[in-house]
Parts: sequence; C-alpha cells; structure tokens
Amino acid sequence: MSLDDLKYVKVKTHPTARNQAVSTQPLLAGSIILSNQAFATVLFENQKGRRCDHCLVLSETLRKCSGCASCCYCDANCQTRHWPSHKKLCKRWNSFASSNEFQALPPHERLDCVLLSYFASPLSADDQLAIFKSLLPGPTHHSPPPTCTPVDGADGLYDRFGNNNFTIHSHLNSFAHGIFPLASRLFNHSCTPNAAARYKLVRGQAVTMEVVALRDIAEGEEICIPYLDPALLQTRQQIFQLTYGFQCTCISCEGLKSVGPIPDVPQDPARFAALEYRLRTFIGVDDLEHCVLRTKPITQSLPSEIRCFLKEDYIEHLSGVFSQSSHDGPYDRALDSGTTLLAMYLLIYPENYPQIGMHALELAKTAWNASMPMNDIVRRQHAMAQVRACLSVSRRILGLYGPEGDGGGPLAEITTLQQLVDQEG
Ligand SMILES: [Zn+2]
Ligand SMILES: [Zn+2]
Ligand SMILES: [Zn+2]
Repeated sequence: MSLDDLKYVKVKTHPTARNQAVSTQPLLAGSIILSNQAFATVLFENQKGRRCDHCLVLSETLRKCSGCASCCYCDANCQTRHWPSHKKLCKRWNSFASSNEFQALPPHERLDCVLLSYFASPLSADDQLAIFKSLLPGPTHHSPPPTCTPVDGADGLYDRFGNNNFTIHSHLNSFAHGIFPLASRLFNHSCTPNAAARYKLVRGQAVTMEVVALRDIAEGEEICIPYLDPALLQTRQQIFQLTYGFQCTCISCEGLKSVGPIPDVPQDPARFAALEYRLRTFIGVDDLEHCVLRTKPITQSLPSEIRCFLKEDYIEHLSGVFSQSSHDGPYDRALDSGTTLLAMYLLIYPENYPQIGMHALELAKTAWNASMPMNDIVRRQHAMAQVRACLSVSRRILGLYGPEGDGGGPLAEITTLQQLVDQEG
C-alpha cells in the first residue's frame, strides 16, 4: 500500500510539521482509518518461544527453526514467510547473540539489532521500504548497534528508528516492536489524539496496525495518534524535543503551560486525603453511580490546590496502590485509590481513550469483588451500582476501540462480568 492508495486519509501540508494526515470524509468513532501491515517486527526477549516470530500469535506448540533454534513458528507456513528476512541471520545468529558486544547492549538496542538486520535482505519491490527511507530522521544521530550481518546504509536507517518505530501491544500490554512505515509517514502526535493504534494478530500473517477513530472526525480534520503515554505530564515535552525534534502544542500541553509550575503534594496525610477528595469532586467521579463520566482537559480553571496531582510520580504511586490493593485488599482502599485514578485519567486522557476503559473495567471487577462479602444491603447495592457504572463506561470505550491482539481479554471479561451482574438482578 502506498500514499496514493489511501481511502480515508490524505496528506496535506502542515504549518510547522512536515505534513499532516487529514480525513477525506466524515468518520464515525470506531472507524478503522488505516490498516498497515508490519514491514518488520521483533518480539521482546521475554516473549521469545511463547509467540511465533512471524505472526506473533501465542502458541503452545511452536516449532523451532532447525538452523538457529532461536526463532519459533506456528508451522511451516509461518517459517516460510519469515525466511526471506531471517535467512541472513539464521546461521550467524547464535555466535552473534552470545558475543560480548551484543550482550553489553541495553534490551531495546538488542531489539533494534534484529530490526536493523531486516534491512540486509529487504524485498526490493517492497514499497514500504521506500516509504521508510523517505521518513524524517530523528533530531540526534545515534550510531547504529552492531548487526549480525552487514546492512547497507545502517546509519541513515537507524536515524529513523527512535522517532518512527512502534511498540506493539495486545490488550494494551506491550510485547514487541515493529516498523509500520505508512503509519509513521502519515500521523502526527497529539497528547489528546482523535485516533489510536491497535494491533491485529492473525495466524500466518504479519501483524497489522489498525488506526481507529476515538471519536467522530469531521472531513478535513487532522488525524493524530499518541507517540507516547500522555500521562508523562512532566517529561513528555522533553521526550518530544530529544527523540522527535518537536514541541507539542496540543490543548493538553497548552493547558499545562497555562497552569505553570506544579506544587509538591502535601506531606500531611489528612490534607492529602482532603485534596484527593477535592480532585474527585472536581472531575465528578466521587459518586460513581450517579455521575456522568466525562473527560475534563487540563486548563487554567483547574483549582490551584489540586494542581499538585499533576506531578508525574503521583499517578505512578496511585496505580501502585490500586493494583496492589485490588489484588490483596483491603477493597475499600482499592476502590478509593481506583476512583481517584479514574479521576486522573479523565483529566489527562482524551475522550474514549482506551486506558480509561481498561481502568474502568479493573474498577468494576474490584467493586464486584468488594460487594461479594457484604451483608449490609445498602452497602452492597451501592457497590453494585459502582460495578454497573464502571462496566458501562468500559463497554462503551473498549467496544469502540475494538478487539486487540490475543483472543479473550477485556471484551470477554466485560461480557462475563455483565452476565454475573445480570444474574444478580
Ligand atoms: Zn505464526
Ligand atoms: Zn533460524
Ligand atoms: Zn501535547
């Protein structure tokens, strides 16, 4: 597929970036804007032997390549399809992988070694290769990592890795890196994007990135995706500068700028709890069963006393408390921290952002578990109302985002929990 074959997007000039991708027609939320099959992928080291090296599908009956015993495949078909890019590595891989120079590399550079090796034997007719070579290099030159087979023009190719390659996920959990030249060529970044990437795994085929509309998009509107997690409130601007060579001016970044320096969170536990309550009421999540959950972008109207929660490590702290207490209890603590985290997500992320849906599902499951041992009817009814409210939010958002990666996952969990809730009456 080339730039000329696109249906829903076209490339237009942009005032500051190289280009922009705009919609050619009105698009409904949930529409697939672009399908882009991977040019090259590499599994994280902890996924090797669990997933097929060609199609990335999980399997318990993979067969190893007899040449290197390093790559694993679903069957002969996957192995045959992977062979054109694997053949130059196969014989040399084991001695290269055990070498000191490879072992000394940080994990992401080891993955880059493999991705870079794909360029040693690209199919000459591959128009994705031409698109990849036409991408802009990142702002800083980094010497390419060693490759186990010579790659022509490795320097120039590697300069396009940091600012263009993607992390592939299943149910939003990352497990591989990939090169998707067309998607790189088309979409600019926004911290409040109107589209996001999901990955489709089909046995026997290279993984496909699907760019999905998160909300209705008007004809001629620019389509943006997030290059990194917008929750990196304090460091993201620096990452854009260093890795991508631009400054983000999305409404969230402008809002953050208008808010000014972020104060420290208070040390006094009572004051801290009072401010968290203030945050939840400001966003409107404190009474989950009666509220309408809506995103509320960061603007100057964010009350000054709760601006301390924009500290990046606060979200990390909150996620830690929630994930630990939702597993081990106490559930009161899990529901409390989970509701505050939901408020933060509604502040940071744009409408229908999949992470909001994932968290709402976790919160629904936690409220369900919390309701089980409750004998007090009023408390139990309250918890069940929370389950329903969170479940409906996660169904709306994740239903729109659609299935991603491996089978099962959040959509199946939503169906199961909904059945349990329906049985309760
Ligand atoms: Zn396979
Ligand atoms: Zn091999
Ligand atoms: Zn931004």
